[in-house]
Amino acid sequence: EFRRVLFRSWKIFARDMEETARGDAVVLETDLRRGLGQNEFAVYYQPIVRLEDGSVAGFEALLRWHHPEKGVVSPTDFIAHSEETGLIIALGRFALERTASDLADWQRHFPLEPPLFASVNVSRRQLREENFALSIEKLLAAGNFREGTFKLEVTESAIEIDQEARRILEWLRDMGAGLAIDDFGTGLSTLSQLKDLPFETVKIDRSFLARRGGVQEEADATAVMSSIVALAHELKRTVIVEGVESERDAIWLKQLGCEYAQGFYFSAPLPSEIGRAYV
Ligand code: C2E
Ligand code: MG
Ligand code: MG
Repeated sequence: EFRRVLFRSWKIFARDMEETARGDAVVLETDLRRGLGQNEFAVYYQPIVRLEDGSVAGFEALLRWHHPEKGVVSPTDFIAHSEETGLIIALGRFALERTASDLADWQRHFPLEPPLFASVNVSRRQLREENFALSIEKLLAAGNFREGTFKLEVTESAIEIDQEARRILEWLRDMGAGLAIDDFGTGLSTLSQLKDLPFETVKIDRSFLARRGGVQEEADATAVMSSIVALAHELKRTVIVEGVESERDAIWLKQLGCEYAQGFYFSAPLPSEIGRAYV
């Protein structure tokens, strides 16, 4: 009897949870649409640094939502949901266009050699949207920035390695978009699969930096990281390590031959106005 009562109340609880979740999703969707209409979204930029000399090579574009009540909302709280509802198409277009225009500005104001690059995240749903490659072609054809400096990041888990995905990626590459595979090491793909995909850059996930502590752990982490880096280099890919939070990590990665790093140690993502203020 006790178990039956328990089971029944568990079922009621589970249903309540489900309804709450569904209710929350509807509220979030309405709120996202409102926010889009009110221009509450912004693109922040996190520097990607050359480990060789600490100079800024480029930036990753990261969406932020300036919510009137909640303050700054991180994409982890709305990207997955906007993929489900399709809102990612509008949000993603905003991020791509804003970044393209900011990149053109930076290159005008800071004519560096090699030129600054910018890298925009693209989700699975965007990649498979009918007009996606065409819209990128348009951005590139406008010719507002230097060749090869506009890059797209696709998270490893978003890539089902089928003909369709490969065809779109190859098209993008042939048009001159730089391609990076994001969060590398969190999914199931391996570097040997990577050799058949048109990514020029591998972004190694920050989980490969975490929990280095004891001597053995340190040695293991070094073995893993150095073999990923070596294989990526063997395949003529460039390496960026994400989530670098300490000088120790930066030095370690430099010694292992990583070209680029990105993380709070160098800088958090910042609004572009801060960059403009220096101009
Ligand atoms: P991601 O592309 O892997 O971006 C890196 C995330 O790590 C960012 O989180 C960044 O703020 C955070 N990060 C940077 N340095 C450090 C560090 O040193 N330590 C730690 N713990 N974290 C660090 P954020 O901005 O919250 O973005 C989360 C994810 O949302 C991104 O992961 C990306 O997949 C997605 N996203 C962001 N902007 C866009 C966009 O415009 N379009 C699409 N489709 N997805 C986006
Ligand atoms: Mg990324
Ligand atoms: Mg990442």
